[in-house]
Amino acid sequence: MPSVQNVLIVGGGAAGCAAAILFARDGATVELAEIKPEESALGSGITVQGNALRVLRQLGVWDEVQAAGYAFSTLGLRAPDGTLLVEMDDVRTGGPDLPATLGMYRPALARILTQAAVAAGAKLRYATTVRSLRSDGSGVDVTFSDGATSRYDLVIGADGVRSQVRSLLGIELETRPTGMGIWRVFTSRPASVTRTDLYYRGACYIAGYCPTADDSLYAYLVEDAQDRSGLSPQEQLAVMRELAAHYHGPWDDIRAVMTDPGRINYTRFETHLLDPPWNRGRVVLIGDAAHTCPPTIAQGAAMALEDAAVLADVLLAADDLDQAAFDTFTARRYERVRTVVTESVQLGQWMLDGVEGNVPALMGKVMGLVSQPA
Ligand SMILES: Cc1cc2nc3c(=O)[nH]c(=O)nc-3n(C[C@H](O)[C@H](O)[C@H](O)COP(=O)(O)OP(=O)(O)OC[C@H]3O[C@@H](n4cnc5c(N)ncnc54)[C@H](O)[C@@H]3O)c2cc1C
Repeated sequence: MPSVQNVLIVGGGAAGCAAAILFARDGATVELAEIKPEESALGSGITVQGNALRVLRQLGVWDEVQAAGYAFSTLGLRAPDGTLLVEMDDVRTGGPDLPATLGMYRPALARILTQAAVAAGAKLRYATTVRSLRSDGSGVDVTFSDGATSRYDLVIGADGVRSQVRSLLGIELETRPTGMGIWRVFTSRPASVTRTDLYYRGACYIAGYCPTADDSLYAYLVEDAQDRSGLSPQEQLAVMRELAAHYHGPWDDIRAVMTDPGRINYTRFETHLLDPPWNRGRVVLIGDAAHTCPPTIAQGAAMALEDAAVLADVLLAADDLDQAAFDTFTARRYERVRTVVTESVQLGQWMLDGVEGNVPALMGKVMGLVSQPA
């Protein structure tokens, strides 16, 4: 008899949906509890790198992702005045038959993954979370926010950086700010933007952009973290436009279409990494619930998707859901994730400290690592 016949997944982000698809496809009964009342219609863009695309292909959604996103395999480095300093082939971390990078509108990726999870058989419950979890040798008793109770062979906490599942397990994990904040805008794509270009220095630490479809892109400016919460949407737009005015070349075209205050977003970078193991009994944490990194290398969602793929690979092959099975999972993930988190933080720290770090060596190390199968 399979060791996982019924599973509860808490959190319907990339990690949760990926796990739902893989466990449901293998024949397990899967319930997915998502705290949001419905699918998000608005959001920003996301840079999806090759190793994440490799997992999306394994999930069976690559064709849809490719159709909805914007793929490219070169990267540009520019000076603030717009001068193109370097144009390089980007590492195809998912293998030669996948692009190095694909930009996507986040809600489009979320919709594809959610629909695939439901099509695989997962039962998705919006506006639902867990109130209590009690794991014993053979299963987990769960009480939901609506008072319902149920028992599962396995509970997967994929509920993001402030994971409630993690709290219910009594795990204390300090999520610390890294010192940077990011402005993002989602807008129409000028013809001059056909891939990501990064501008280091100038008024911000990083200014960059990523096409997300033929007709859209997201662009970002990374600054010292500060409290921007008191700004109205109009004021946010004004601040971002003022910062963007320090950058030229394609940024001039982007600035011209930065007009909708409703499409500006400000977030501060944070990080944490849970020591092994990532389970307590039959409850296991994946994705941002276990580790989070600033998006300086754009690997967070990739790590979340890989966690789900490795968890399914290990647990669906296990004869028993004993600690050895969970240790095997964490062992396959920990060093890879630790390196990505550490180097993502380091990259930002060099900029904060004004230190000339060896960025090519750091990027080469991370890209080499994530090019290996998870
Ligand atoms: C500014 C910024 C930019 C980023 N850019 C990139 C990028 O370009 N590329 C990249 O790869 N990564 C990027 N990341 C990282 C990436 O967004 C995350 O690593 C990724 O979303 C993690 O996926 P997840 O499924 O673990 O968590 P999440 O995406 O956070 O999903 C968690 C889900 O759980 C739900 N949830 C939360 N609490 C509960 C609860 N109590 N009960 C039930 N459900 C709950 C949430 O509503 C959500 O749907 C970025 C992060 C930030 C902050």
